[in-house]
Amino acid sequence: MRLPRPMRDAMLAHAVAGLPLEACGIVVGRGEEPLRFVATANAAASPTRYEIAPRDLLRITLEVEGSGEAIWAIFHSHPTSAAYPSATDIRLAFYPEAIYLIASLVDPARPDLRGFRIIEGQVIEVALEA
Ligand SMILES: [Zn+2]
Repeated sequence: MRLPRPMRDAMLAHAVAGLPLEACGIVVGRGEEPLRFVATANAAASPTRYEIAPRDLLRITLEVEGSGEAIWAIFHSHPTSAAYPSATDIRLAFYPEAIYLIASLVDPARPDLRGFRIIEGQVIEVALEA
């Protein structure tokens, strides 16, 4: 999957700004193409969990509805663990069409950003290219 460098940088900046809590956001896209990153609030306000703030999710859902755009990826950060979906992430993955992007900030100087599809409890890593 293509993930332009500026979008990746925006995500990582949002993740760092949110420390020590997890940060989250949504990438809106069309077809295979990511269009824009929308930073959202983490309603869980937790260092180990995220919940995209319902008002943000609703706003973005209404924005893309009928526009040909879609929720292309769901991003969140792992401040102290690896860039891999947690058991909770897998259980609460309700968007089989979307890519789940996870940034690990274990080494803040060198964040690790990875992408996954999570379909019916199965985790499949997808390669990200700039
Ligand atoms: Zn997670």
